[in-house]
Amino acid sequence: MDALIAILPGDGIGPEVTHEGVRVLNAIAEQYGHRFERREALIGGAALDALDIPAPEATLDLAREADAVLLGAVGGPKWNDVPGDKRPERGLLNLRAAMNTFANVRPVVPHEALRGASPIKEELLVGVDMIVVRELTGGIYFGEKQRSADSATDVCTYTREEIVRVLRIAGQLAQQRKGRVTSVDKSNVLETSRLWQSVAREFFAEEFPELEIEHLLVDAAAMHLLSRPRDFDVIVTENMFGDILTDEASMLAGSMGMLPSASLNAGKKGLYEPIHGSAPDIAGQGIANPCGCILSVAMLLRHSLSLEAEAAAVEAAVFGALDQGYRTADIAIAGAPSVTTREMGDAIAAGLPAGD
Ligand code: NAD
Repeated sequence: MDALIAILPGDGIGPEVTHEGVRVLNAIAEQYGHRFERREALIGGAALDALDIPAPEATLDLAREADAVLLGAVGGPKWNDVPGDKRPERGLLNLRAAMNTFANVRPVVPHEALRGASPIKEELLVGVDMIVVRELTGGIYFGEKQRSADSATDVCTYTREEIVRVLRIAGQLAQQRKGRVTSVDKSNVLETSRLWQSVAREFFAEEFPELEIEHLLVDAAAMHLLSRPRDFDVIVTENMFGDILTDEASMLAGSMGMLPSASLNAGKKGLYEPIHGSAPDIAGQGIANPCGCILSVAMLLRHSLSLEAEAAAVEAAVFGALDQGYRTADIAIAGAPSVTTREMGDAIAAGLPAGD
């Protein structure tokens, strides 16, 4: 197949892990006979340094034109003092807005070989395989804000339409999985959550009557994520609850460096990135874990390009490398040697199957 893929390496370890992700994309294209046109563009601090704007119009145009976008990470201490609208993170928000990606999807599947790397008891991690879907463009982060010397206000708003479109993504994912959705809210306190829950009850009964639906309060969900993580299949929730729960859930997998994510719109387009940031503490040392980025490539192949076999091959190659004992420093077994970003990428590329 032919596809245009935008590559936005960004800052810090972003270019290091993206380099390995692109190598895997190239290997897949070669082995399976696809033509992936890869076009690179600037985002975040790198764009600010070069063009004085964190999300240049050329980058946004490319993202709109491309079939999918692979992003590294943005930000870093170098840009701590720049004004709000020029911050590297603003570049990412502008990119998501330009692509209208309203659902952030994070699979959390702790690999058997890494169970020891999680702070959670190993026996609780057996069989954990969940996807957290976070609403990305509404809620308290985007409501009206006011500040005086002694008081502050953040308004939280949701519309039925915003809720339905993210619930639909959760429903579609659950259909392809174990058929269970947990909708998380705070309906005992918040009016937006009462709307969320009533829309969710109505929507799932109408559009996905075959799914098993559970409604949990966010405080209970935070507890159950640690006490019974294997019971979850698809979790769907609003922006701020999702922000917090996805970071909590990431600890089940051992390291931030392991986890991929996709930000999706109503169509096939998506922005794919590892969940971690630019990791300035290890940037430039060649020791970052590229697995989250490479697993994001697998999500890109599966969702935006409908290449299921290729996606599964990438995931198998990542898990195969872990099974063979390859470990970057963040997931290294105490006392054992670790490999570099490049060596981990080599081990994964070597595990990809030969094409026809
Ligand atoms: P971070 O995710 O960059 O790093 C947190 C810790 O995890 C660090 O100790 C880091 O070394 C480690 N880590 C992260 N990814 C790793 C990997 N692939 N391999 C090995 N270790 C890894 O979070 P932070 O330090 O809070 O943020 C640093 C910068 O990144 C900030 O400017 C922040 O705004 C930005 N950020 C960007 C994104 C994004 O681009 N989507 C997300 C989060 C943070």
